[in-house]
Amino acid sequence: MREKTLSMEELVSLAKRRGFIFQASEIYGGISGFWDLGPYGVELANNIKQSWWKYFVYSNFNVVGLDTTIIQHSKLWKASGHVDTFVDPMVDCKSCKHRFRADHVAGINSANLAKLDKALKNKSCPNCGKVGTFTSPHHFNMMFKTYVGPIEDGANQTYLRPETAGGIFAQYELVRETTRKKLPFGIAQIGKAFRNEITPGDFIFRLREFIQMELEAFVHPKEADKWYKFWKEYCMNWLLDIGLKKEHLRLHDHRPEERAHYAAASTDIQYRYPFGFKELYGIANRTDYDLSVHQKESGKDLSYFDEETKEQFIPYIIEPSVGVERLLMALLLDGYDEEEVKGEKRIVMRFTKQLAPVKVAVLPLSKKPELSTLARNVFKKISGEYNVEYDETQSIGRRYRRQDEIGTPYCVTIDFESLEDKAVTVRERDSMKQERIKIEELKQHLLKELNH
Ligand code: ATP
Repeated sequence: MREKTLSMEELVSLAKRRGFIFQASEIYGGISGFWDLGPYGVELANNIKQSWWKYFVYSNFNVVGLDTTIIQHSKLWKASGHVDTFVDPMVDCKSCKHRFRADHVAGINSANLAKLDKALKNKSCPNCGKVGTFTSPHHFNMMFKTYVGPIEDGANQTYLRPETAGGIFAQYELVRETTRKKLPFGIAQIGKAFRNEITPGDFIFRLREFIQMELEAFVHPKEADKWYKFWKEYCMNWLLDIGLKKEHLRLHDHRPEERAHYAAASTDIQYRYPFGFKELYGIANRTDYDLSVHQKESGKDLSYFDEETKEQFIPYIIEPSVGVERLLMALLLDGYDEEEVKGEKRIVMRFTKQLAPVKVAVLPLSKKPELSTLARNVFKKISGEYNVEYDETQSIGRRYRRQDEIGTPYCVTIDFESLEDKAVTVRERDSMKQERIKIEELKQHLLKELNH
């Protein structure tokens, strides 16, 4: 088996052709930074979310879930610092009018406007190629503004959340009280986040609307380092568990100048995308920053009293945060494989069984009514618990190839013999081994195999 790496063009085309990812509003020419999940994309994303929830919530007795609203009180975003500092440096080309992230064009990892201005002097515009045509860089706030209620004035203005964490911090005290949790404990949330990125792109890597899976772990300040290390390792293990290749993942610990001002330590788990190693998962020790600023702005006491040690303090927060789409993209890239079978190229998506968008395909050998009827009965018997696809068009070879390309672990073929022996052929994706199984035993057999 040889490893084949997909280029960006190949990935985008395959994701569309095979029903994973479509450009949003495509019939109107698309909208930059927005992508829809197609029928197999939504299955894959749901399986990713479910796996994350099982691994981060169900497997830890001290982690609970939460679902807060996308729109929150504007004071929350003022307190968190997003209104004043959730900005990216932006620059315009005076010649072609294109707009860019100033730090990306300048090629320096800094938000300092003076430094960027200087560096931009001899850079050429990535669009028109002219040199010395940039405006002075300025800050651009990435939150989408909106209004609550019918009057569009400042008092009613708020934002679509740029991260899910804000809602967790605001409900921290109620969650702690109602679940009677003691430190250390965590609150997990999966949901949409919105960022008006200046230059969205690289397919679904940098979006303006995306799904985050975030965990906020509340810990004693003295134990923050220990838990930071723990969650770093935990996240890496999950990524390996769901099928990403070890050699495509690496840790990038942030130097002090790369960190957010409140973070005591932060790291990215980077994945090797076609455009290089880039952040997939962010993990940070956010100190007592979040609860302190919300305590100050809201006037509510958010400190924690440790009954054993009689200490009173504001908990530190360790935050691992990952975007579903960046992960989905990595899984498509690492899942893709090509091999030669009997002189022909076979394309296979090697998703784990847990993540595969379709678990089983039911394929009658011909469209003859007696086979269709039996095949539909087989579909009925095994469906309802996981995603099963029914397909009776085209040759069986082409249907196998189609299922291989979306990563379906098992194909069930109903042939004319099935009418006599009440058995079907089960074909396994990777080995292509075929096994005859009695229809009566099929449901149990597949459940066992899928959970294996
Ligand atoms: P970047 O430096 O790439 O802009 P970030 O450091 O701003 O990312 P965080 O604020 O740490 O990102 O967000 C946590 C996670 O959310 C990221 O690791 C990433 O997986 C995801 N994420 C952030 N911004 C986007 C985006 N615009 N599109 C898709 N996913 C995103």
